[in-house]
Amino acid sequence: MRAMEEYGLYIGGEWAFTAEQFEVENPANGEIIARCAIAREGEVDRAVGAARRAFPDWSERSFDERGELLAAVAAGLERRLEELAALEARETGRPIKEALAHDLPATIGLFRYFAGVAPAIFGETIPVPGEYLNYTRREPVGVVAGITPWNFPLWLGAIKIAPALAAGNTVVMKPASLTPLTTLELAKIMEEAGLPPGVFNVVTGPGARTGQLLAAHPGVDKVAFTGETLTGTKIMECAARNITRVSLELGGKSPNIVFADCDFEKALSFTLLSIFFAQGQMCTAGSRLLVERKIHEEFVAALVERASRIKIGDPLDPGTEFGPLASRAQREKVERYVARALEEGAHLLLGGKRPRGAEFEKGYYFEPTIFDNVKNDQAIAREEIFGPVLAVIEFEGEEEAIALANDTDYGLAAGIWTNDLAKAHRVAHRVRAGKIWINCYNIFPPGAPFGGFKRSGFGRELGLHSLLDLYTEVKDIQVDLGREYFDWFV
Ligand code: NAD
Repeated sequence: MRAMEEYGLYIGGEWAFTAEQFEVENPANGEIIARCAIAREGEVDRAVGAARRAFPDWSERSFDERGELLAAVAAGLERRLEELAALEARETGRPIKEALAHDLPATIGLFRYFAGVAPAIFGETIPVPGEYLNYTRREPVGVVAGITPWNFPLWLGAIKIAPALAAGNTVVMKPASLTPLTTLELAKIMEEAGLPPGVFNVVTGPGARTGQLLAAHPGVDKVAFTGETLTGTKIMECAARNITRVSLELGGKSPNIVFADCDFEKALSFTLLSIFFAQGQMCTAGSRLLVERKIHEEFVAALVERASRIKIGDPLDPGTEFGPLASRAQREKVERYVARALEEGAHLLLGGKRPRGAEFEKGYYFEPTIFDNVKNDQAIAREEIFGPVLAVIEFEGEEEAIALANDTDYGLAAGIWTNDLAKAHRVAHRVRAGKIWINCYNIFPPGAPFGGFKRSGFGRELGLHSLLDLYTEVKDIQVDLGREYFDWFV
């Protein structure tokens, strides 16, 4: 390896450096923290080739052997937890507090979970007519290309890598260009853990070049993608050329429904978390707060008061609760939506601007923002902003709440707040989204499936659903047990 701040591509267990590079910036201060290689056609080809060559040996290893290696990866991550949390805070701009409390422990938990659960991959014996034995086997798909966004680089990578490897696939990762460093560090941990060369590879570079080359590569058997809905359509087009399997975790515009009979304080606290964790740059952000008329005024007033106390600052300060947005472009996008919301008549209650102060000048900071009196047909209620902008919409009664919740192109997640048990389940059943949280929000146990309805994508990550449905193929075997001679053409 060269100096820490210069990263190559990790292909077949070796680091490959390229003449063409891109820079990675710390969004808190604009400082360049690393240079990374750009993989072109030749390098993408080599990475896929390395993964193909490693596949036969890796797929034939026992679950125990693969599980032990994945557990060693978890241990490696744990040993470097603080260093990786700091690196993630530097590349994403998210507070180190979040990386230490969530991203790293959740990533480690994923490797542990899939290391242990892999033996759950087994087939079925199917009763069939005649003297036959019929059974199925679940076999690994082959070479998996993982393409990930910039907001939770390690965790969203691990959601794909851990089950794919546990099931016996080999992997080529393409992390987002804004935040590739933790995935490249993960490659070092994989190597230290003893993963055979080629089982795990990382290529970096722009999505429209490197990502597209990978998604369209005929040697890739499966593309596991997380990112924007529009990019998802391009991934499908690329994959269609080779009938490559795809799973898509895309955008969201999730409703967080607060009924008047909720636990007020708990709903308040999780509502803040639902929209301001990761500066709102989260696919499941509860960006549409639906509040029942009876408590609307009181709830929103309390929310504004609490949100105005969120501590904005340097992501590396352990006391910081809210860092900068991930890039200049991301902040400009948020600012465009704020201007549009004002034009459309939404009522700005908090934020809507950059924070003042010398410490914020070089970074892409933007204040937690709350709009009230939003109509569900306005842009801030329909389009994914991917930033700290909450649209508050009032409703009256269960039917209107459900209608508003479902009046969206997306279907990733929803929150429901009520102490009426039957109502909570009734609403949960009728909201068209892949993940429903009742009286909680943004909880992702490794064993519970996660994924979208509608334009939020398809396929379920996490749990046995991902292990079995995303990373194995079903093979059916029919065995003759009869003693009769069979000759069709006599
Ligand atoms: P993005 O779609 O711009 O990029 C995601 C990845 O795809 C990056 O690695 C990028 O380089 C690559 N890419 C871009 N164009 C490509 C192309 N033409 N072919 C192949 N690869 C290409 O998304 P982003 O801006 O990095 O992330 C934000 C988006 O991700 C939001 O829409 C958010 O909702 C979504 N997201 C979804 C989930 C989920 O689980 N559903 C989780 C996190 C983020």
